[in-house]
Amino acid sequence: TSGTTKYIYDLSEGDLSMKPLLGGKGANLSEMIKLGVPVPDGFTVTTEACVDTMNNGGEWPADLWGQVTDALARFEERVDRRLGDAEKPLLVSVRSGAVISMPGMMDTILNLGISDETVGSLAAEFGERFAWDTYRRFIQMYGDVVEGVPHHAYEDALTALKAERGVENDPDLTAEDLKGLVETFKQVSREHMGEEFPTDPKEQLKRAVNAVFASWDTPRAGIYRKSQGIPDDLGTAVNVMQMVFGNRGETSATGVCFTRNPSTGAKELYGEFLLNAQGEDVVAGIRTPKPLAEMESVLPEAYAQLLDTMNRLEEHNGDMQDIEFTVEDGKLFLLQTRNGKRTAPAAFKIAVDMVTEGKLDKAGALKRIEPAQLDQLLHPAIDLSHGKTPVTKGLNASPGAAVGEVVFDAETAAERGKAGDRVVLVRWETTPDDIAGVIVAQGVLTAHGGMTSHAAVVARGMGKPCVAGASKIKIDAEAKTLTIGESVLREGDMITLDGTTGEVYAEALDLVPPQLNDDFQTIVGWADEIRRMDVRANADTGADAAKAREFGAQGIGLCRTEHMFMEADRLPAVRKMILAESDEARTQALAEILPLQQEDFEAIFDAMTGLPVTVRLLDPPMHEFLPNLVDQSLLVQRLELEGRGEDDAELAEARTLLAQVKKLTEQNPMLGTRGVRLALLYPEIPAMQTRAIVRAALASKARGSEPQVEIMVPLVAFAEELKRMRAIIEETIAEELQAAGESMDFPVGTMIELPRAAVTADQIAEHADFFSFGTNDLTQTGVGISRDDAEGAFLAHYIDEEIVEGNPFGSIDRDGVGGLVGIGAEKGRSTHADLKLGVCGEHGGDPASISLFEELGLNYVSCSPYRVPIARFAAARAVL
Ligand code: PEP
Ligand code: MG
Repeated sequence: TSGTTKYIYDLSEGDLSMKPLLGGKGANLSEMIKLGVPVPDGFTVTTEACVDTMNNGGEWPADLWGQVTDALARFEERVDRRLGDAEKPLLVSVRSGAVISMPGMMDTILNLGISDETVGSLAAEFGERFAWDTYRRFIQMYGDVVEGVPHHAYEDALTALKAERGVENDPDLTAEDLKGLVETFKQVSREHMGEEFPTDPKEQLKRAVNAVFASWDTPRAGIYRKSQGIPDDLGTAVNVMQMVFGNRGETSATGVCFTRNPSTGAKELYGEFLLNAQGEDVVAGIRTPKPLAEMESVLPEAYAQLLDTMNRLEEHNGDMQDIEFTVEDGKLFLLQTRNGKRTAPAAFKIAVDMVTEGKLDKAGALKRIEPAQLDQLLHPAIDLSHGKTPVTKGLNASPGAAVGEVVFDAETAAERGKAGDRVVLVRWETTPDDIAGVIVAQGVLTAHGGMTSHAAVVARGMGKPCVAGASKIKIDAEAKTLTIGESVLREGDMITLDGTTGEVYAEALDLVPPQLNDDFQTIVGWADEIRRMDVRANADTGADAAKAREFGAQGIGLCRTEHMFMEADRLPAVRKMILAESDEARTQALAEILPLQQEDFEAIFDAMTGLPVTVRLLDPPMHEFLPNLVDQSLLVQRLELEGRGEDDAELAEARTLLAQVKKLTEQNPMLGTRGVRLALLYPEIPAMQTRAIVRAALASKARGSEPQVEIMVPLVAFAEELKRMRAIIEETIAEELQAAGESMDFPVGTMIELPRAAVTADQIAEHADFFSFGTNDLTQTGVGISRDDAEGAFLAHYIDEEIVEGNPFGSIDRDGVGGLVGIGAEKGRSTHADLKLGVCGEHGGDPASISLFEELGLNYVSCSPYRVPIARFAAARAVL
């Protein structure tokens, strides 16, 4: 691209608003500098440089290297040290920093700048052992990340050396040992690289920056982005910063901390540190760190400064912070701060507490919670009355309960999880490469690693139960066994994790539905103050209606009356109606059904008193109430084989039913005789239903309820259909009201669930008091994919291969089906400016879809009772 693009910013040049360009880490470092928080010096290579490189087939923009060397020169000037300088060498870290944080997914190189030339002066300055240890760490990390030398090649050499020296831990190796190890590592590198290990730090820097760019495109990063809905084209920034050392003896340390407990949300000290160590040791879970509180006694000044800084950063960012720090020879440096990942219960508690503390307003609180986190709160937990004894206990790294079959590797977990099996991934410790398995597992159990280890952070972010650091378990990955005390579990055996307590059970325990707590209610209550759209529920019974009301539904947006027909005790009457040879016979059968329907409606109207209830007239094709063709054929055949005579009543009945099934079976039943089409063929059916509705409303009213009933016609494609249907409905209403000597309003509306209806909505609106978009059928007919088969057939492949963004039956296809909803809404309102518009397809409970419905100015969404709180929340988020 153009030679004038500025690809590099000194850390002191940026601020938080530049996050898209500088990435989260770079922007936050810049912001900290603005606040006067101690941060090492350095510069950021922008995400734009990464994107331009990716778009250019991996070639850097022409002047990028020139800009890097200019920035480096300024940097060297400021800190009075130079990269590769034998006397005063500068050592830097090269770290990725995406716009949306992807913990552990991308690459980092530390200690760049140490070389044969510089190691001597570093030894003189900081000690021999430190210098050689740093050198061997550098070769190991650089070789692995930049040059692709397998990590284990270095680990094997290190292990061999320790064995040779008869020592167990790295710190037991002497400076001489480490010096020798550097030579060994160089040789290991040479063997795998097929060329000399590069010794020019500038060349190393160039390759390191490039490796960080490239790490954006690793499979694990791609899988993570997909799971989190992060776009693939954002690219990462690269931060080049002066190294500060937490491993310079007993006055140095490194650690991570959160300003609040990310599991529970409690406002308390939460973090871990390691004396005399480098940051990677903590994150990778290689050494087990100490609780942060213990830092007070060993590094009191740095500790006090850290606490103060934590408070300031939280206050400044208006959110819980996840911080990385290093103490170098008593002096505190912050290496990173970001809004911390947290569990769902923690997200709610933190948001509510921060509003109470006056640090946030209600809208800000809502913005800090993801709709998916409401989902997690609605997840099951272990039934505490189980009375079972756990076989072991680890750290309660991510709450919630997981029950499933033990698997020992991420690949198997990914395979079986995708196939719909419930598996629990059991690992010594997880690495970022395990991500595909973690995503689909019910939960994760690790033997190793702390609360801030990779497994813990990733699991919490996904709301996945995780027990980490269960140090008493023994895993034999080869033999595929998990030994916990006396019990030996094999792959496929059941296990239960309680991520809330850290307890592990060697059996499958029962789970109970989640309890919604006060914080949850508070947040959803705030959402109600903010949202514009109403939220109704789809409910077909009085019990469901009551449940929906408890969850805060403001009415029923869809009552599917066919479910009332399918109850076992009603089917005989329904079949009689279908099999009726004459209008009279049909009317008689319908008369039997009427009181039953009326009873159901009364229960619903009573439960929803004072709130609107949209009753939809019969929709499915008739054959759904009859046995299936194959079954019925087999029944007839069986009776014939039994030798039943021609006068056998059962055989006669079975044959009649079979004939009827044959007659009613359609090639494309979903595009067949259903909805308004059926009603116009057999007007006695909608008449009966209307009668039941009116009588129920009057009975309900007589009992003191306040029914507000709306009657809805399904599957309308032509205005003429609705016009005729409306006439039948209104005539029946008038008859019933007159007979009862009462008056009551019954608005009549239609579903918009066919493309033709959306496109001609202006004509249809002439006969409608309201519209409700049936986005299930609108997706089926608008995209032309079957609701019943597509997901099991090609659609899964489409989603995997990213031919489509996601499942259009789950989240609305914005451009296509969303476009049809937009057309329908606009055309409908062009006829009736105040036409009430709702959605009652599954998308009514999906946050991404809700955000589109808000944009289109619809009046309400309607979803299943359990999704009502999520919809209330998502509707508020959609207006923020
Ligand atoms: C729809 O099609 O979106 C709808 C709500 O109706 P049903 O799911 O009953 O077909
Ligand atoms: Mg439908």
